[in-house]
Amino acid sequence: MRERYGAWTGNPKGTPGNHELCSESVSPSTGWNSYQCSRKGIIEENGELWCKQHAPANVKAKREKVRAEWKAKSEARIANQPANVRRAAIEECLAVVEAIETGSVTAGNRTCADAIRALLGGEA
Ligand SMILES: [Zn+2]
Repeated sequence: MRERYGAWTGNPKGTPGNHELCSESVSPSTGWNSYQCSRKGIIEENGELWCKQHAPANVKAKREKVRAEWKAKSEARIANQPANVRRAAIEECLAVVEAIETGSVTAGNRTCADAIRALLGGEA
């Protein structure tokens, strides 16, 4: 817990910390000023009391969860970009053409025509 919360030049003393409450200093959505979290401190961590939301381990777990979700979403978005989908189809077509050129007709399970149809957006 801090000695004081929300201290600034216009209110240098701020508000004294309440040792029964969560130690987190929170800000209203305006971002102006700050105050001690009004929830009861129920979890002890790093020698301080925290509410369930602000306990450092919970804050870290939540941040990592959000980051993992964001990463998965952005990877899916990139993979599904039309340019990447087209590139994947072209690479598949190239593999078939290369296989034909080297005398092998069993490149993957698609024929070159299938790959080209997929490239054009039709039935593969
Ligand atoms: Zn809190």
